[in-house]
Amino acid sequence: MLERSYFDWNATAPLRDEARQALQDACEVAGNPSSVHAEGRAARRLIERARDDVAALVGARPADVFFTSSGTEANMLALTPAIETAAEKRPRDKLLMSAIEHSSVRAGGRFVRTAIEDIPVSADGRVDLKALTDAVARASRPLVSLMLANNETGVLQPVAEAAAIVHAGGGLLHVDAVQAVGRVPCDIGALGADLLTLSAHKLGGPKGVGALVRLSEDIHFADPLIRGGGQERGMRAGTENVAGIAAFGAAAAAAHRQLTAEAAGMLALRTRLEAGLRAISPHAVIFGAAAERLPNTTLFAVEGMKAETAVIAFDLEGIAVSSGAACSSGKVQPSHVLAAMRVSPVLTRGGVRVSLGWTTTEADVECFLGAWRKLSSALSKDQRGIAA
Ligand code: PLP
Repeated sequence: MLERSYFDWNATAPLRDEARQALQDACEVAGNPSSVHAEGRAARRLIERARDDVAALVGARPADVFFTSSGTEANMLALTPAIETAAEKRPRDKLLMSAIEHSSVRAGGRFVRTAIEDIPVSADGRVDLKALTDAVARASRPLVSLMLANNETGVLQPVAEAAAIVHAGGGLLHVDAVQAVGRVPCDIGALGADLLTLSAHKLGGPKGVGALVRLSEDIHFADPLIRGGGQERGMRAGTENVAGIAAFGAAAAAAHRQLTAEAAGMLALRTRLEAGLRAISPHAVIFGAAAERLPNTTLFAVEGMKAETAVIAFDLEGIAVSSGAACSSGKVQPSHVLAAMRVSPVLTRGGVRVSLGWTTTEADVECFLGAWRKLSSALSKDQRGIAA
């Protein structure tokens, strides 16, 4: 069988060994964490240890971490008009978000459509802070949602500057850090975020576990998404996914310990990959290349290439990449991120995302470049054929 190289870490990362072990161990713990007997207390200990590890990864207090079923659910929980602070109990009537947010933020949580306003981004994929300043001034005490790193381009957003603008206007800032956490340092206080969304499966934990982290106990949700048994201090009812949460904690601890070394390793390989890509295809466009980006992400296109065709061709060569464009009901939509960056329509359907992780090797990068050499020469032959 063909050896495969996995370059789709922004879609999901493989389970870390530490997470696998924690998952298996937790499956042997029979108790319900809400039960007071020894079995219940053992399950509770697993959750609280995970809460400590997730909190430490983002510089929060364990009591401010709320486990959810996913990053999507954490975003949904965060985006509500009924978010209160100790000083402010009135509902927030406006949600501002950048035009490049993940679909789980773009859906707007529990705000009505008419209460949502988009903030444009620059050509290099960073939120326009002048436009944000104006929008915050027009709105009264808005909730603002801004991602720390974009999932398609990897471009890092100026979150700390945005936080200063939002807070000066009486607003609150929610930061979707799903793609950034574990890849770049991410401290809730240093970012100036009031709320932070995390997802276990992007940092080596299992799929189907996430967390919403708040800056302090000053922030309160008057309308939790799921009500019932009062778990997660009333913010998210339902018996906890003990094994998933324990594995999330183990992955967070490993990601925290290894962040500097892993980030340096990914950056060195990504640099090699982009140099090779440019040498083979001098006209390839690497989106957001001039901006600060995650160390693991490259989104590129060449004129005339369709992303879905390239993804299939790479797959046949044993390489897993993804297209920047979204595919729903069998129809490939141009990427809303590239459209927001005002990329020419001939390129918006061609974005191929290559994302690396901690097990990516030089050999993987060479396989990718070998496959790209083959694909790009086939592509130029096709184009010559069409021109003739
Ligand atoms: N936010 C961003 C930026 C993402 O990239 C993703 C997943 O791709 C999510 C949120 C959703 O996370 P989950 O898959 O845990 O629902």
